[in-house]
Amino acid sequence: MAEMLGAKAITADADIPDDAPEVLKQGLAYRKIVNTGDPCPGCGVRVAPPTRAELRQAQRSRVLIMSDVHHARDCPGSLRGFGGRGE
Ligand SMILES: [Zn+2]
Repeated sequence: MAEMLGAKAITADADIPDDAPEVLKQGLAYRKIVNTGDPCPGCGVRVAPPTRAELRQAQRSRVLIMSDVHHARDCPGSLRGFGGRGE
């Protein structure tokens, strides 16, 4: 459990294999940075914080809020060429 933007957060970070291509290492590293709440060094995207209404609703119904991050197509964080959304 981590903290992001002042709230408890569960993030999915991949281990970065030593023998991975450099662009993949960079993309996974960028994603880890974004998962801390900081902007992506490649494209500046951030995790969009939930609204107060979304937070209240999630607390009432005890559900998780899913956040989706869309890196720019040319950002290594898109994992373009590795099954990411930048395909
Ligand atoms: Zn990015």
